[in-house]
Amino acid sequence: MPLAPGHHFIAPNVVVHVFEADRPGPTALVQAAIHGDEIAGAHALFEMLEAGLTPRCGRLLVVPIMNHPAFRARTRTAPGGLDLNRCFPGDAGAHEREYRLARRFMDLVLDERPALVATLHESQKRYDPAVTPSFGQTIVYGVEPAPPIVEATVARLNDELADPEETWAPLYYPVATSSTEVIVEATGCIGLCIETWMGFDLERRVAMQRRVVELLLEDVGVGADYRGSSL
Ligand SMILES: [Zn+2]
Repeated sequence: MPLAPGHHFIAPNVVVHVFEADRPGPTALVQAAIHGDEIAGAHALFEMLEAGLTPRCGRLLVVPIMNHPAFRARTRTAPGGLDLNRCFPGDAGAHEREYRLARRFMDLVLDERPALVATLHESQKRYDPAVTPSFGQTIVYGVEPAPPIVEATVARLNDELADPEETWAPLYYPVATSSTEVIVEATGCIGLCIETWMGFDLERRVAMQRRVVELLLEDVGVGADYRGSSL
């Protein structure tokens, strides 16, 4: 069953922020810091929440930090842990925390059936079509043809670029064992990974991640408004 609006926990420290608009529409799910050293997406989501993020239509679910121990350590995995992004669909009975958490997240996805699942990553390499893998800045999809939302969002991002260095590209890069592809396979949703290049200042990366999320939400029919913070 879909979650009621408010805050819910899929682990003692993993919060799902659930928003519901008055107008009906699709559900979008955005998550960050599945890799703990890729922090810009988490910062972007926290900024958006602080500004009073609310959907215009449908439902919006936000998980700002998926992997807290990894985020605290600023490392890809938790110290001594597994790559959470490679533990899907997870296992509720597993010894490893990552498999159990992946299962909780997978159950959330299966209950919510979002139209869009966007995962906010970052890349140590700047995107270069001649270099595989290289990701920053790309919107990555793993099922062809590209979902139309990818081209639309990339075009709009590049239309409003402040600096040509920040140019975005769509990138087809299937990784069969990644959380995104396991989720796409199970639900048929649009599953995207957002990648910014870590060579930019954090402030720029955060601004870029935020803008991508806003445009994706708009293109998927959920939209993002800000009510202003109540605190
Ligand atoms: Zn990543």
